[in-house]
Amino acid sequence: MSDNSHSTGQPANEDHENIVLKDDTEYGRQHEIIKQKQAEDRERAGDPAEPKVGVYICRCGGNISDVVDVERTAQIVGMVPGVTISKVHTFMCSDPGQHMISNDILENGLDRVVVASCSPFLHEQTFRGAVSRGNLNPYLYEHVNIREQGSWAHKHDPEGATQLAIRMITAAVGRLQNAQPLDLIKLPNHRKALVIGGGIAGMKAAAELAARGILVLLVESSGRLGGQLNERGRVYPSETMASEIVADLEKQVRNNDKIDLLLNSKVTAVDGFIGNFRTVIEGPFGPAGGFDKRDALVGAIVLATGYRPYVPRDGEFLYHQDPCVVTTPEFIQMMQNMDPAAKSFEYNGRNIRSVAFLHCVGSRQLDGVHEPQPDGTLNKYCSRTCCSTILQQALALRKRFPKIQVYDFHRDIRTYGRGEEDYYINASKEGVVFFRFNGEDPPQVERTMDAKGHLPRSRKAGPITITVKDMLTWGEDLAVPVDMVVLGVGMTPSPIQDLIESIKLPTGEDHFLQEVHPKLRPVEVAVNGVLLAGTAQAPMNIQETLNAAGAAAVKAAAMFAHEMVELNPFVASVDSSLCCGEGICVTQCDYEGALQLVEKEVDGQTVQRAEVNAGLCVGCGACVPVCPHRALELNGWRLDQFESMVDGLMADIPHGDCQPELVHLG
Ligand SMILES: Cc1cc2nc3c(=O)[nH]c(=O)nc-3n(C[C@H](O)[C@H](O)[C@H](O)COP(=O)(O)OP(=O)(O)OC[C@H]3O[C@@H](n4cnc5c(N)ncnc54)[C@H](O)[C@@H]3O)c2cc1C
Repeated sequence: MSDNSHSTGQPANEDHENIVLKDDTEYGRQHEIIKQKQAEDRERAGDPAEPKVGVYICRCGGNISDVVDVERTAQIVGMVPGVTISKVHTFMCSDPGQHMISNDILENGLDRVVVASCSPFLHEQTFRGAVSRGNLNPYLYEHVNIREQGSWAHKHDPEGATQLAIRMITAAVGRLQNAQPLDLIKLPNHRKALVIGGGIAGMKAAAELAARGILVLLVESSGRLGGQLNERGRVYPSETMASEIVADLEKQVRNNDKIDLLLNSKVTAVDGFIGNFRTVIEGPFGPAGGFDKRDALVGAIVLATGYRPYVPRDGEFLYHQDPCVVTTPEFIQMMQNMDPAAKSFEYNGRNIRSVAFLHCVGSRQLDGVHEPQPDGTLNKYCSRTCCSTILQQALALRKRFPKIQVYDFHRDIRTYGRGEEDYYINASKEGVVFFRFNGEDPPQVERTMDAKGHLPRSRKAGPITITVKDMLTWGEDLAVPVDMVVLGVGMTPSPIQDLIESIKLPTGEDHFLQEVHPKLRPVEVAVNGVLLAGTAQAPMNIQETLNAAGAAAVKAAAMFAHEMVELNPFVASVDSSLCCGEGICVTQCDYEGALQLVEKEVDGQTVQRAEVNAGLCVGCGACVPVCPHRALELNGWRLDQFESMVDGLMADIPHGDCQPELVHLG
């Protein structure tokens, strides 16, 4: 018996003692009615034995019990019909806590278990394991989160948090009353991954997967590996040449017999599901390098399709109207291609004596200020890499040509990565002049005109004038003539609509591919077996891109750890005896192939019946309510389980000091 645990209403040294409540309160009377209803349900289902439910409530070392009155909670839920054991422990996830659960199942014949503790994300699997060790089906277990959703969320309302805990546990007990044992869904697993996109993210993911012994098909649409980094020079914050980073990764990919590299190729069709994706790839596989198609069966897909720099509209800040208005990628290329011995900066016949860098072009766009994109939306997101890129380029320009005046027009400066703030500090020290504008009032970039509205003949003033209401001088209206303007463009997602449609990929409001959860499942998408790597997901710098690609590879590799893919059993199921083959459910299903009408023989006749593909069904439940014959249910979340949950939630709960009398059994 552990020192840090004791049972409800008992002295600390008499832990885990079973308790029964003599209950003639309203709560008890309501439960009598519920109990009767459940007994009738069970009778109808042909299994009249009353379930024996064990409820285990965790103090979480005070994280829960400092707010929730766990002892009173245990007393009250101990009165719920079917609950035969109700215990409290200081750390239910500890070995003694888990042993207690397994032993109780074995010794007391429990056939359902509820644990009320922290988020299921942390310990649902832990307790399913404890339940399995007690020889009970792990899906006859229910996890209730009374920490994140209870004590932490309601720390200033202990009574409310206690009432909430009681209701949530009672609902869980209700759901379990009608639960049935379930088994993991096991599907064949093809131990091969398809990585789409051969930028640094794709190369890194492919190399990491191969290092774990997994065969990889790396498909790149262009003729070379490296993606956008092929267009960059020195990269912040390490000042390494981008080409070195690409070359290093390319070596790992090309010298690897586990990686099959397909350049100039595209994935044109994808169907199937985790462990079993069937894909069609088009590339130069035909005779004499002609285009042809090739099928590939893979277990997991990593999307590393990257980004495209934002391209300003014609005329946006004079882009494509004045040859000396360029974007950051164009400026970087210009600098790369410049004769290293050049003493002055000449471009397009213009001697460049002053350069203005303009932040947030095509990013952080505002309603009513910026013109929407062709699809009517605005790029409201921050592209995250532009500030550091601009400061790095501005500083490099000042150092190379100290006589050139360099101006920086920003809304904010976001140099968030390690070492990146130094670019800002050093740019200031080197004489870069900063102007700050309000987002609602961006600078105007116009041709410089003389007083008569003509282009000036004098070369003293720059041919382009930037006017700005400068917030660093408390809103002064300034006009700055320059020879060149560099537009700090952000990132937009690569155009992969075909893949989005064939794989059914979710995208965010920003059109980048969207993960399931930014913190808890950051590289997974809602389609099982499909992972995200790098800037296909969001603007990222090189370090973040490589981290994300590494994470995607590890996640994909984990899918191949078992011979079979194991999936949760919470998918739809069809009762063929109720199905009439009308197919309304199929039309409502958002997951292509998850629900289909198939032909079956019934009483010597060929009829159509709905059938679930467990590999594709995500268990969303959209098919259940649309069936007029109630032929569909969601395993683990059947309608009768919801009904019992609602009964539990709605029952009256004794308040504060109104505690039922306790009777302790031996
Ligand atoms: C101007 C600018 C400067 C930058 N400078 C820096 C810097 O100094 N330091 C830093 O840390 N970060 C910098 N970045 C960010 C850096 O460029 C990215 O982090 C990095 O390039 C992302 O790599 P990726 O592999 O995710 O995408 P990408 O480089 O875009 O690679 C994607 C690849 O996928 C391929 N592809 C696309 N669609 C398909 C398809 N359907 N099928 C097959 N292949 C496909 C593309 O051809 C490409 O090869 C900068 C960004 C910009 C815009």
